[in-house]
Amino acid sequence: MGRHHCRLCTRAVTMAQILTFIFISLFYGTLAMPAPPRVDPITPEERKTAEEYLNKYYIMTNKSGNTMADKIREMQKFFGMKVTGTLDHSTMDIMKTPRCGMPDVGAFTAFPGRPRWPSNSLTYRILNFTPDLPRNVVEDSIQKALNVWSAVTPLRFSKVQAGNADILIQFSRQLHGDQSAFDGPSGVLAHAYAPGGGIGGDAHFDEDERWSNNRSGFNLFLVAAHEFGHSLGLGHSTDRSALMFPTYQFVNTNNFRLPQDDVNGIQSLYGRRQQ
Ligand SMILES: [Zn+2]
Ligand SMILES: [Zn+2]
Repeated sequence: MGRHHCRLCTRAVTMAQILTFIFISLFYGTLAMPAPPRVDPITPEERKTAEEYLNKYYIMTNKSGNTMADKIREMQKFFGMKVTGTLDHSTMDIMKTPRCGMPDVGAFTAFPGRPRWPSNSLTYRILNFTPDLPRNVVEDSIQKALNVWSAVTPLRFSKVQAGNADILIQFSRQLHGDQSAFDGPSGVLAHAYAPGGGIGGDAHFDEDERWSNNRSGFNLFLVAAHEFGHSLGLGHSTDRSALMFPTYQFVNTNNFRLPQDDVNGIQSLYGRRQQ
């Protein structure tokens, strides 16, 4: 069963960073001065981080080339970077960006074998709540995240308060009963399982993140909408504007519209919404 962990990123700029930027800019005499490219060598610690990242997200099972350089090339291709096969600082920067925990290789819009739910009527249940947000805000964020997908397909979601459900939703930290422990603040933010019985369809959110309904911390609606894409059978997209792109980027959530790439993906599995 395909598994998606999402290690989505914050682009939040702190006041300290802004002040530092202004200070450095003043030091250089202009606000428009671009940062010079870093030429200092990659440290052994960074190289270790890179190896772990590539082994986790770039699992090249069917390919003969499986060296570090091959994986770096795959990653650079996925993120639309210059493909060099060399570990440089811009490649490292992407590796340090919080994201979904699901592998990137293949760039499919569905999981291998295209698993999908046999019924258009699905149930979900919120097993526990994050203390970061009022309960009704969590419920609202989850419902809106599911609506993103039901708005363009025949899918219908109904909430249940007890017993089993197709999509079980929980907030957990570190080891939490599956094979994929969470990793503390940042890094992996959440993961979700492809359609199927048991754990299939379930979505887990890392309680060590600070969940929000705005641009601070990580926006629960945005991360949940991404994870539910996995719960419904979508894999990651290489389209940077897609909701199913693996790294987190805050976008305005008022009147959120599902990007076209995601609409195409989900409609390839479930068809269009009947008028
Ligand atoms: Zn993901
Ligand atoms: Zn989990």
